[in-house]
Amino acid sequence: MTVLKQKKDQKADQQTIVKVENLKKYFPIKGGILKRTIGHVKAVDDVSFEIKKGETLGVVGESGSGKSTLGRMILRLLEPTEGKIVFEDQDITHLSNRKMRSLRKDMQIVFQDPFASLNSKMSIREIIEEPLLVQTSMSKKERQEKVVSLLEKVGLQPDDRVKYPHEFSGGQRQRISIARALAINPKFIIGDEPVSALDVSIQAQVLNLMKDLQDEFDLTYLFISHDLSVVRHISDRVAVMYLGRIVELASKKEIYENPLHPYTQALLSSIPTTDIDRKKEKITLSGDLPSPSNPPSGCAFRTRCPLVHERCAEERPEFNDMGEGHFVACHLFDKPSIRDEEVKQEKDMH
Ligand code: ADP
Ligand code: MG
Repeated sequence: MTVLKQKKDQKADQQTIVKVENLKKYFPIKGGILKRTIGHVKAVDDVSFEIKKGETLGVVGESGSGKSTLGRMILRLLEPTEGKIVFEDQDITHLSNRKMRSLRKDMQIVFQDPFASLNSKMSIREIIEEPLLVQTSMSKKERQEKVVSLLEKVGLQPDDRVKYPHEFSGGQRQRISIARALAINPKFIIGDEPVSALDVSIQAQVLNLMKDLQDEFDLTYLFISHDLSVVRHISDRVAVMYLGRIVELASKKEIYENPLHPYTQALLSSIPTTDIDRKKEKITLSGDLPSPSNPPSGCAFRTRCPLVHERCAEERPEFNDMGEGHFVACHLFDKPSIRDEEVKQEKDMH
């Protein structure tokens, strides 16, 4: 057995580190002079999945599909409306702030905007040292050493610690954000579009850095992006979100080589390809993302789906397992119900 294969097999039976069940976030919409709740934005609407230790789950979808809301709920930065969040076998859905505090060091987030996410009045040393001051009892000397080693890990210079955020480029700032996130040895990191604000050439560098650090520190990632080609670099599995729901979830290979959901197919077809052998029909999505406060009945994607049929307006498609962990919510892949079987048998008899 090759080392690579062994490593893969080990990954396959690793334990679950994060699990979400039927997670929902409905933001109330207030209206009228009495500011009563007149509706809800269904930002995340019944999402379930697991992430294995050491794995990267990519989450993709257009802007407004609920990715950030999902990520913030998992870290308990936002209270879920319904559902359950489990971290290392502990139900953390309703954990008090005090109890969450000790867990916070295990979970970190890296945000999209490297300009807004770093305090411009703090030196790089202070920025990276802050979580060490809050979460550890390290001495000043230990903290200094840790800051220097972290800067080196993310490809910056020890001397950079005396500088301020404005002296760095976007890519370098993301490296600083990553160093800060790593400071207290987290197990799980959510990247919420961590490379989306960067130039394409810099994106690859930061993605590679994140991959290297994952191997070195045995990290688990939830990697959020609106861009399927970015997620491809880093993910083991990919979840595709549309209007607050996961419409397809599969291994990276399956998502890119055998996408089943018409939405995934449309997203993929919009990625520019240099591979001329791959005959790819460009599918253009008509219209904008509908409002999550008033999602279409049945399948939420039906208003933009090129393969829409009658049933799509009537029934919400189930999230079906098509085998080997490839899940899809689309009526094209409905498992035949007992009723369908009966109708078919009757037809066959005549
Ligand atoms: P994404 O990260 O995929 O772009 P978000 O999770 O930011 O999506 O947003 C999903 C939906 O929830 C959007 O329609 C957004 O306007 C809405 N939303 C997000 N945060 C709030 C909030 N605090 N109050 C009301 N609506 C919100
Ligand atoms: Mg977002």
